[in-house]
Amino acid sequence: MKKSYLFTPGPTPIPSESLLAMAQPIDYHRSEDAVALIKDVLEKLKHVFQTENDVMFLTSSGTGAMDGAVSNLLSRGDKALVIRTGKFGERWGEICTAYGVEVIPIDVEWGNSVAPEIVEEHLTTNPEIKVVYSTLCETSTGALHDIQTLAQITQSTPTLLVVDAVSALGADDLQMDQWGVDVVVSCSQKGLMTPPGLAFVALNNRAWDAVEHSNLPKYYFDFRKAHKSGIEGSVPYTPAITLLNALQCALNLIYEEGINNTIKRHQQMALATRSAIKAIGLPLFASSPANTLTSIRLPMEVDGKAFVKMMREDYGITYAGGQGELSGKILRIAHLGWMNENDVIVAISSFERGLAEIGYDISLGVGVAAAQEVFSL
Ligand code: PMP
Repeated sequence: MKKSYLFTPGPTPIPSESLLAMAQPIDYHRSEDAVALIKDVLEKLKHVFQTENDVMFLTSSGTGAMDGAVSNLLSRGDKALVIRTGKFGERWGEICTAYGVEVIPIDVEWGNSVAPEIVEEHLTTNPEIKVVYSTLCETSTGALHDIQTLAQITQSTPTLLVVDAVSALGADDLQMDQWGVDVVVSCSQKGLMTPPGLAFVALNNRAWDAVEHSNLPKYYFDFRKAHKSGIEGSVPYTPAITLLNALQCALNLIYEEGINNTIKRHQQMALATRSAIKAIGLPLFASSPANTLTSIRLPMEVDGKAFVKMMREDYGITYAGGQGELSGKILRIAHLGWMNENDVIVAISSFERGLAEIGYDISLGVGVAAAQEVFSL
């Protein structure tokens, strides 16, 4: 008998309440019950986004919200500053280019986070930049970004700050209103413990102003339509109602725990994982690691791709490997969403077993002991 464990930074495991909710008969999305469901979900999302702004949902994966955060805010030929510290920062640039937006890139070596001063310098020399596209946790490297400082910089300028919190929402702190972030995008299948298929986005007044001036083409991801409907508990198109039922259960869990405690739980899991990896004797990949996941630089002699395959097939443990230029070189262990201390212990002990199996010199249990120590503090 093989039991499966999912330690990828999306999708993440689903709470049993949500699984049961998805087994309920399908409902009509314009019924009174559906209106109440949509209103409830959108209200509770505000708690997770730490905002009083309206949150909207789109029926798509997270990239749909990213697409909309370009097509709804800008016009052809506008300039956007794109922070590229990994695969998902690059995606912002690709979307901008697809829409005819001029990309001014800030390229940072993968594993590092952008220095806010560099963003400030660009905005000073290039005040016509309309939007800064950033990423809270660059999932391809595990690096966290200092969004609070970036928001301090953009707030005193007409430039908007858009944050991709697709993976990190609910795991790393992001105080949309308090910090002055203009737009936040996220999705269902990570910190929000729901299957893939829903994207979320919140805009403040400055950003809504920009929407009024944008002339890029848009239809399915037109934020004005999603916003107008959402306020009424309605939707412009048939929504993934089954996923909304699951999301409601997951949001209830976060609501009951309280977003600050949810973030603290993730912080503890991240600290324990990092401590375990250091005790095992391997370097962390990200210089400023997020609570969302831990990236580990694998020793040269370890074939990362083969390791991920072996762990999945022999142990039922799914970790994520490296993406793009990091393929085979790093291992990513997520501690995200429906997880607690026990899951971290399974992730670490399995990692140790796997390393031992491929002949890596490891004293079994050192990582687990280090993690336990963090949890017992
Ligand atoms: N941004 C980040 C930071 C992500 O982690 C991901 C998914 N791994 C995406 C964007 C893209 O999201 P999706 O695959 O849901 O479209």
